[in-house]
Amino acid sequence: MIKLTGLHKAYDGKTVLDGIDLEVSKGEIVVIIGPSGTGKSTLLRCLNLLETPDAGTLAIDDLTLDLANTSEHQAIELRKRASFVFQNYALFANKTAQQNIAEGLVTVWKQPKAEASATALGILRDIGLEDKKDAYPASLSGGQQQRVGIGRAMAAHSKVILFDEPTSALDPEWVDEVLGLMKQLARRHQTMVVVTHEMEFARDVADRVIFMEGGRIVEQGPPSEILVDPKDPRTRAFLRKVI
Ligand code: ATP
Ligand code: MG
Repeated sequence: MIKLTGLHKAYDGKTVLDGIDLEVSKGEIVVIIGPSGTGKSTLLRCLNLLETPDAGTLAIDDLTLDLANTSEHQAIELRKRASFVFQNYALFANKTAQQNIAEGLVTVWKQPKAEASATALGILRDIGLEDKKDAYPASLSGGQQQRVGIGRAMAAHSKVILFDEPTSALDPEWVDEVLGLMKQLARRHQTMVVVTHEMEFARDVADRVIFMEGGRIVEQGPPSEILVDPKDPRTRAFLRKVI
């Protein structure tokens, strides 16, 4: 369903992504791990054209893009198919929980406001935050804000949801409720690509774990292999530090 080929990205002449190929099947849960500065966020951001790659082709669903040469229209079409969940939630501070979820349905999907509002309410019910529909982000806990962030991605019925360290900005007490919602999505066979340091989540939920270092995929496979008996010494060294 997703096929990324030959992704390259450099900042100021410094290569950050050095030829990434990635295929993700429908319903697959892919977890990406790797040291800091290795290009994990840049990879996810390129997949949503939040950064402009220097080279690469992306086929997602019925859309095929030359990532280095995309129009604004193509970027919007891509973002209809791939939603992004940010580490810092990135909610609109001046919009309520319900408005935050409805916003993209109006701006990206061109839904009438009333319809988007109704969809948003259904999502809030689904994620257990119906009673917070009129709350502004500042009055929500970190866990609740991130659940709204995920709700926003859910509302779009995206083919894939891209998560960039969705729990790493949270106080420890809120981590489980966010991972719980992600597990719920996984059980519904939502296709997801998740950058995370939550190894337990990777072990329990991932179909495939990808270890990245230095802008490349070093190795990948089922969690039982990559997290337990990795072949590459770089993966072993990384896991010794985080587990
Ligand atoms: P972390 O685990 O710390 O989140 P990461 O694997 O997500 O790391 P990236 O954020 O993708 O790493 O960064 C990869 C490299 O690209 C780093 O060296 C970073 O400094 C550099 N980089 C990222 N964004 C920019 C930018 N906008 N301008 C210049 N350099 C950048
Ligand atoms: Mg990152």
